[in-house]
Amino acid sequence: MCHSEKLTLTCVCCPVGCELEVERTSASQATYLSGAGCARGKRYGPAEAISPQRVVTTTVFVPGVATPLPVKTAGPVPRELAG
Ligand code: SF4
Repeated sequence: MCHSEKLTLTCVCCPVGCELEVERTSASQATYLSGAGCARGKRYGPAEAISPQRVVTTTVFVPGVATPLPVKTAGPVPRELAG
């Protein structure tokens, strides 16, 4: 049996925030349908529907440095680990 679900997602790749339409056909497959203003959103939509990921930014205290330093993950991590 094939179960598909249409999702509406907001692209967070840039401040424009395009509203994307995506069809998820299984836990591991999704297809971009419409709404993206650029190719980045067309990639983001299906990826977000299957496995949401985020780059994490924060600040850390370093011994000997008066103010916290900004840091971020080397790449996207699963959203459930991003806090
Ligand atoms: S689809 Fe492109 S233009 Fe639209 S929010 Fe995403 S990155 Fe920005």
